[in-house]
Amino acid sequence: MILPGATLGMLGGGQLGRMFTTAAQTMGYKVIVLEPDVNSPAGIIADQHICASYTDEAALAQLAELCDAITTEFENIPATTLSYLEAKTVVHPSSQALSLTQNRVVEKEFIASLEVNLAPYVAIRSTEDIDAIADSFPFPAILKAASFGYDGKGQSVCDTAEDVRTAFAALNQVECVLEQRINLEREVSTVLARSESGEISFFPVAENVHINGILHSTTVPSSIVDEQLDDVLEIAAKIANGLAYVGTMAVEFFISVEGDILANEIAPRPHNSGHFTLDACETSQFEQQVRMLCGLPSGNCDLTTPVVMINLLGDVWGNSQPHWNVLLCQSENKLHLYGKKEARAGRKMGHFNVLADTVEQASEIAVASFKALQAD
Ligand code: ATP
Ligand code: MG
Repeated sequence: MILPGATLGMLGGGQLGRMFTTAAQTMGYKVIVLEPDVNSPAGIIADQHICASYTDEAALAQLAELCDAITTEFENIPATTLSYLEAKTVVHPSSQALSLTQNRVVEKEFIASLEVNLAPYVAIRSTEDIDAIADSFPFPAILKAASFGYDGKGQSVCDTAEDVRTAFAALNQVECVLEQRINLEREVSTVLARSESGEISFFPVAENVHINGILHSTTVPSSIVDEQLDDVLEIAAKIANGLAYVGTMAVEFFISVEGDILANEIAPRPHNSGHFTLDACETSQFEQQVRMLCGLPSGNCDLTTPVVMINLLGDVWGNSQPHWNVLLCQSENKLHLYGKKEARAGRKMGHFNVLADTVEQASEIAVASFKALQAD
């Protein structure tokens, strides 16, 4: 076990890295963040910030030298960076697990190999690939860039093969997946922690609402029936075991109106839909990330209260600060801001958790508070 007093490394300086840093520091660890941006949410609170690119070998060597264990908050860290670090110190998740989750084609092939259902899809690497499926693909569809997508970026809705040609050209013909657009009944996700010995602990399954491809709200407990709950956990465990994953990770699911459970994607890190754990579980997903990285036993994942999490995007800022007073004067609301200076549309700036006796009450307060805090 790696115990308090040790130094942990974090690749990536975003909000997930920041919340990891806070959790680790609370437990008595030191944290060094490697992140190219001078002013990052995690870099500004870390014990040390190495300001360098993820491929800067001298910086990576320095990080490995200083840290007892290293993790990441960002799936697009080059897998070669992780394999370089793995040769020098403890690294979780592994370069192998990361390489299976950073490209949508590779990720879907991996999930399909476990006999887990996915939305029907096909890889698109050339205009010939589009010709080949033009008459047979079950449209409507979504074309998604295979790499570097997040928050719905690099995605276009396509109703015909012609739309796919236009969207593929607009993406400069980078490798893509064309995915059938599912009639969604609901979306859920699960955050889990898997230890080196293969024990898995699950946080409660979360029900998610996305707006324009970006997570808007998470509600826990979810409204899915027990049978679906069991299926979701079984699939997530299959995926974590298949990756031989060590650490905290998430799996996103679609539930279709026909009742099919389809895996959407894997996040090899804590997840936005797990932010409710910060205030509504015995252990947060970030403490859990620290625990798994350090070889400590899993914390208790039990829910302590019904909760609704609402994301705060830059859109809420308008020309001034949101009306924080309205939000903070309601004792059920727990505010988390990430320390980002510039509020851009679609940029995740923070979130708040609403804790109440029932999901219905939490939801009512969440809707009213979200409306009231919007800047003029
Ligand atoms: P993130 O990594 O931030 O979750 P992303 O950019 O990787 O986002 P996806 O998870 O692929 O994006 O899609 C974002 C959202 O868009 C989904 O949660 C869902 O609401 C909608 N969406 C994506 N693909 C489909 C689909 N095939 N059918 C129906 N809705 C979809
Ligand atoms: Mg997603």
